[in-house]
Amino acid sequence: MIRYFQEIFSGLWSLLVGMRLTARMAVAPTITTHYPFDTLEITPNFRGHIDLVINPKTARDKCIVCMMCQRACPSGCISLKGEKPEGAKKKVLTEYHLDFTKCSLCGNCVETCPVNALEYSRDYQLAGFSRHEFHFDLVDRFRQRAREQGLDPKVGDLTPPPPKPPKPAATETAPDASGSTDG
Ligand code: SF4
Ligand code: SF4
Repeated sequence: MIRYFQEIFSGLWSLLVGMRLTARMAVAPTITTHYPFDTLEITPNFRGHIDLVINPKTARDKCIVCMMCQRACPSGCISLKGEKPEGAKKKVLTEYHLDFTKCSLCGNCVETCPVNALEYSRDYQLAGFSRHEFHFDLVDRFRQRAREQGLDPKVGDLTPPPPKPPKPAATETAPDASGSTDG
């Protein structure tokens, strides 16, 4: 009989302790975010997948198609291609694919790039139904991102460069009278 009342008392006490904790938390300041309706500001050091840097003045990428990022990637995530426009000396980036399913976010590609053409994206809400959704076409993303910034994207532009203006003709120098041997 005593044991019966002990169990009732213990249950009530446990209920009171739980209710006290609930009441305290109900009036405590909120420290969580009502995701996905509210989102937190992402820290500047956040590393999302890589993206091509947009030059805001030219709406072009900075890539010189040196392939160093592709070689530096330990996971073989990167494949890219470039083409030389007719009459141009340098290649233009035409394709840049990232297989984010294999990326370890090591940052080798970003650090290796000699012209700082890569950056980390700030996308963290990456969810999908298939791993194929994480094969990113960064050239296509570049175009979308540039348009969102009000720019007319020029990535992959194979328009031949304008011809160089002709060099000005050399001016003829007058013969030096002092050096003449006539007479
Ligand atoms: S962050 Fe590392 S693993 Fe990911 S693409 Fe760059 S080099 Fe490859
Ligand atoms: S290392 Fe930089 S410049 Fe070279 S191919 Fe990669 S993104 Fe382009």
